[in-house]
Amino acid sequence: MRNIIFILMSSVCLFNVILSQTNCYLVEDNEKYTYEMISSDLDSLAIIFPERTELFSIGNSEFGFPIKVVRIGSKVPKKRSLLFVGNIHAREDYSSKFVMKFLNLFLLSFSGDTTIYSKAAEYLNEVDLYFMPVANPDGLKIAHEDWVSIEKYLPEIEKILRMESYAEWKANGKGVDLNDSFDDGTHALNKSYNSSSVPCSEGFKGNYPAEPIETQLIQKFVANIRPLMTLSFHTKGDLIYWADSKTHSYFEGIDSLINEKSLRVSNFSRVPVSPDPRTYGGGLENYVRYEFGLLGSCVELSFGDNLRKQFPDDEFNNRVWKKAWKIPTTCIEMVITYANQLEVISNRYKRN
Ligand SMILES: [Zn+2]
Repeated sequence: MRNIIFILMSSVCLFNVILSQTNCYLVEDNEKYTYEMISSDLDSLAIIFPERTELFSIGNSEFGFPIKVVRIGSKVPKKRSLLFVGNIHAREDYSSKFVMKFLNLFLLSFSGDTTIYSKAAEYLNEVDLYFMPVANPDGLKIAHEDWVSIEKYLPEIEKILRMESYAEWKANGKGVDLNDSFDDGTHALNKSYNSSSVPCSEGFKGNYPAEPIETQLIQKFVANIRPLMTLSFHTKGDLIYWADSKTHSYFEGIDSLINEKSLRVSNFSRVPVSPDPRTYGGGLENYVRYEFGLLGSCVELSFGDNLRKQFPDDEFNNRVWKKAWKIPTTCIEMVITYANQLEVISNRYKRN
């Protein structure tokens, strides 16, 4: 059914694009939003908004699925940018839905279909926006028990240690937890509360830093575009991990200001600077701070109940969107305000 509706919607949108870009809202707010659906919606958005978007893949996952990225901006890429990442953790599919919803509504503000992002054009005069809704395609497919095109990997997947059902899968297709695997200098000590010494549905950081293909591709991509800020979306907690003890002092208080403003617009809970590299290490947000002296935040969407089980698809708007929808633009505005200073900080930054 969804396919038929999708084909109809896409053709309506593609037809409309000749006249205008009206009613091209494609995101599934209330249903399961699979890797294939997201991938095809990204293709459609790139066709509907050709003058604002550039769609590309940074490479393929362990199982061979493209990790797609959309850049929004003018034809020639700008040096200054922000990066929005979803679904590094497989089961946390509110995060890809959130990135997609923000992307779609942001684009629709150019066709006059929504006014919620009234300053969208102004932002794009200053920065490019990069969207990577699904950083971990294989994991998302496993969490959705969407075995189409990965049947041949099933025997290997079944051998991986599993904490609960497939719906609670967090790792990539090979049983490595991507957000413990980034090369931020903490790999040897990193030992989170759920750590596993063998491939597992969660908590295995890999045998060496950046072992998973997905981690290597994301690191390479970030090294290329050097976004002034990376926002990586997760669940759960209604909070933001915004700084760590190793790098916080470099940001001259700008990270604190951005965090305070983000908390004000979302009512999320305040967390302290992450104190201990043994527990916070290996995340994308830690990596961009440590490797490049660039801002990174891990935004934990939806109420924190300490269960692996995720909330129902049809509660997304209530549990996530209505609280968090202003966080991305708040960060964009703050990054634009402090762009010069952030560039100076990153340019003189040296790892230690
Ligand atoms: Zn997560």
